[in-house]
Amino acid sequence: MTERLRIAVQKKGRLADDSFAMLKKCGLRFSIRGGALLARVKNAPIDLLLVRDDDIPSFVSTGAADLGMAGENVLVEEVLTSGNTMDALIDRRLGFSRCSLCLAADANGQIQSAADLEGTKIATTYPGVLGKYLKENNINATSVEMKGAVELAPSIDIADSICDLVSSGATLEANGLAAFETILNSEAVLIKSSREFAGEKQAIYDSLVSRIDGVIRSADSKYIMLNAPKSAVPEISKILPGSDAPTIIPLGDSDLVAVQAVCTENVFWETLEDLKSKGARSILVLPIEKMLG
Ligand code: ATP
Ligand code: ZN
Repeated sequence: MTERLRIAVQKKGRLADDSFAMLKKCGLRFSIRGGALLARVKNAPIDLLLVRDDDIPSFVSTGAADLGMAGENVLVEEVLTSGNTMDALIDRRLGFSRCSLCLAADANGQIQSAADLEGTKIATTYPGVLGKYLKENNINATSVEMKGAVELAPSIDIADSICDLVSSGATLEANGLAAFETILNSEAVLIKSSREFAGEKQAIYDSLVSRIDGVIRSADSKYIMLNAPKSAVPEISKILPGSDAPTIIPLGDSDLVAVQAVCTENVFWETLEDLKSKGARSILVLPIEKMLG
């Protein structure tokens, strides 16, 4: 029997769908059935362990899973609350589920900055990260640990402020709160232990991460095609965003050439207008689905 690489992913929640989408873009075929703890990938020696996000770092640390996908916020918290005994490291950043762990308080209240926290109570589900921040900044405040609904704490007098995840700020605003300090910026990360893979797992891992890197790189990448007078090519090459030397193809006997390039950065309308003013015509911007090498 061949070995299978086991990846722990969030079963259900704000990370789950994007984690599944990333793995599907890597070409993995699987289906998630309600209640199942394990999903078998049909076309690769990989199994998905479907769990709560908070458990992912320790599953990777103990070897119950070979890899994990979780928010950096959860990884940092679990490592800190384990007393740094956990062997779970960031292998690479995955570029989705971006959010920040912020301090927030009543938009019109007494607490408007970190300096106002002295002697107050802060509600959070992240006692590890908050505790480290308070210690490093020499702030004497009490952290009140909650399991959820942290944004309600100030209105029911459990705490004076909160330390919670923020992405758009809409939840804070709906509760009359405003963020005044960011203590951690987070995105989804691939988690791995420091141990080396034994046997066939290394090759399965190598193939998977080269696909993940390809998916991440192709996310913002575009393929640009345009026609231009040969003399305009140096100027045009300079403004193609994040591209190596473009491919130049002569067009018959005319002094026109076709220019084609992979742009690894977002291509804006302004860039296209710029290209046009330098003599480019018939400009096409195409999405790139996959990249390798
Ligand atoms: P579980 O039941 O697995 O413990 P949970 O309730 O702890 O789930 P979710 O609310 O699903 O967690 O959030 C999971 C992760 O998604 C967070 O730890 C964070 O990394 C990320 N996240 C949180 N809020 C947002 C957001 N508004 N936008 C994008 N990603 C977010
Ligand atoms: Zn959780």
